[in-house]
Amino acid sequence: MSALIPNNKKRGNKKPLLNMYWMYGIIILSLIGLYYFQDGSQTKEVDWTEFEKAATEGYVEKIVVLSQNGIAEGYLTPEGAKAEKFVDNPTSDGDKKIECTIPSAEKMQDKIDAWNAALVAAGKPEIKVNYEKGSDLMKFFWFFGPILVFIFFMVYMSKRMAGGGGAQGGIFNVAKSKAKVFDKNNGSTVTFKDVAGLAEAKVEVEEIVEFLKNPQRYTELGAKIPKGALLVGPPGTGKTLLAKAVAGEADVPFLSMSGSDFVEMFVGVGAARVRDLFKQAKEKAPCIVFIDEIDAVGRARGKNPNMGSNDERENTLNQMLTEMDGFGSNNGVIILAATNRADMLDKALLRPGRFDRQIYVDLPELTDRMEIFNVHLRNIKVAADLDVEQLARQTQGFSGAEIANVCNEAALIAARNNKQEVEWNDFMAAIDRIVGGLEKRSRIITDDEKFSIATHEAGHATIGWLIEYGDPLVKVTIVPRGRALGAAWYAPEERQIMPTQALLDKMCGLLGGRAAEEVFLGQVGTGASNDLERCTKIARAMVMMYGMSPQLPNLNYNDSTGQEYGFTKPFSEGTASVIDQEVMRIVNEQYERAKAILREHAAQHNKLRDMLVEREVIFHDDVQGVLGERPWKSRTDEIMEINRKEEAKKGLLPPPDQKDDSKIGDDKGEETGSDEDDDAGTPPPFNK
Ligand code: ATP
Repeated sequence: MSALIPNNKKRGNKKPLLNMYWMYGIIILSLIGLYYFQDGSQTKEVDWTEFEKAATEGYVEKIVVLSQNGIAEGYLTPEGAKAEKFVDNPTSDGDKKIECTIPSAEKMQDKIDAWNAALVAAGKPEIKVNYEKGSDLMKFFWFFGPILVFIFFMVYMSKRMAGGGGAQGGIFNVAKSKAKVFDKNNGSTVTFKDVAGLAEAKVEVEEIVEFLKNPQRYTELGAKIPKGALLVGPPGTGKTLLAKAVAGEADVPFLSMSGSDFVEMFVGVGAARVRDLFKQAKEKAPCIVFIDEIDAVGRARGKNPNMGSNDERENTLNQMLTEMDGFGSNNGVIILAATNRADMLDKALLRPGRFDRQIYVDLPELTDRMEIFNVHLRNIKVAADLDVEQLARQTQGFSGAEIANVCNEAALIAARNNKQEVEWNDFMAAIDRIVGGLEKRSRIITDDEKFSIATHEAGHATIGWLIEYGDPLVKVTIVPRGRALGAAWYAPEERQIMPTQALLDKMCGLLGGRAAEEVFLGQVGTGASNDLERCTKIARAMVMMYGMSPQLPNLNYNDSTGQEYGFTKPFSEGTASVIDQEVMRIVNEQYERAKAILREHAAQHNKLRDMLVEREVIFHDDVQGVLGERPWKSRTDEIMEINRKEEAKKGLLPPPDQKDDSKIGDDKGEETGSDEDDDAGTPPPFNK
């Protein structure tokens, strides 16, 4: 394979004969020449005696005294210009001058006065006199200053645009692709072992590596090697990591670029860079080209409302489409690309023949999260009894990047507290911090405010506990964190499809805080704005996207491609007002429902509120102690129990009876029981 890798070093040594620095030198020299020979004048240096002789004999018509330089220039009359003793080349055009050093400007004036008196007496014309200050250097800079500044500006700009690339950079290299090349000598150190979970995605990309290593295995049977694969998924799920692992394992050159690297302030540069990238790739074949964040150039063409500003991007995309279908399928260049927004990409880019495969890289499931934790805990000194499975359960909805962040944050917290190893509590504090922001105990909160925050949070906790699709609670706090004054942590089920009732219950839970304020405080405050925003969004989605409103059944006004409607609405004014009414009705119904539940369970709510005021943090067990077993627990639990048995069968988890569930603590070191049968996690809290 390595024989196919062109020798870059050799090629890099070939320097152009006339590089840019030579060009600049030539330009400056020509300017200097131009300055000195601009008017074709001739100057001959003479001594004082000669100068005086020329002046008194009437060969000088004008004298310019350059006071700072201490010289005088005598402009010769036509007769003087013919005299060979004063001029080297009498036949040439232009002014002829003689020049000599003078004792001083004052003495020179006396001399000129005496010469003029003698000349007048002899009936000859007087010599005109002029005094000038400037030196030659000053004159030079006045003349060339602006040009030099312009040249330096151009050099500076072209270097900046080429990323300070020295002699090889410059404005003239702007069309070169900026791809980073990894090959045998300069390889990526990431391997598939560093990528945890993502089993299906790994199989697909491993196959791509295999295509390049043993192409004949496939081509012998008549199969064509895929040209490209698109990694699609939410941010931080490991798409770039997977591509890096391919670079590390493939044993072929790997060219990596980001979509935004094609974008430049010059028209046509994007397309030129695409051409250059593919040219490089073809030279290095077999190889892999990776384009990260391809949506920067690959967005659907034509329907963008940015009036013409997307022309350049379209050109780049067109070039990419041409290049991707412009080489035969077996020539050993495979394009990998990654994006969070496959829905925004141009359909032509996604068709088989360009990106033949789309590989979905989803948020990690429980077992994947465990594996990711294990990868990132490799270099961290953790307590021997750390329960990684519980950690994975606590981080439902986290991406790989967030899990990596939890591990690092936990290590930082442990180090800050001078611990020898990272313990469970450090991880919990890290999770809380990542989800809710930094704890702000120093924020001054009055007793009244504390009481109303506790009322609000206890409202969320009570409703969440008592409704069917309420998410199991992990903990409630009224310690300010980030921008929130209090928060309730839940562990929602991992659901693919939400029934209508689940959405309504979610809204009811969100409105629980505001409802508690009204029922128990008699007035509402500003703290519920985030809850209301999320609640309204759900109601609007129910009416406009999911067709769940009886007034507008089975209608979806959403445009998932983002290209259909532009500035127009896909419904009439009449429908718009029905939508508004329906959204309002749904929210109001859930609000009334929340208030009714709270009135019914006022005593329990108040007990929770008092516990919160007193302790600032309460946990799942405390809520269970006050409100009893969850009436709707069974459905979630059954599913979770089945899952757990399945996992135990596969040997991924210990059987349920061996599990130790008593470890969830908080950053104050308190211990409490977890919601033992739920996939306990820490989703974004219902912040206030
Ligand atoms: P984006 O779409 O925002 O570019 P991405 O999907 O490309 O995100 P990566 O850059 O690959 O995400 O991941 C960021 C970091 O998260 C990685 O450097 C790694 O530390 C961690 N990470 C993500 N997924 C995994 C995983 N499956 N195994 C191990 N680490 C992971």
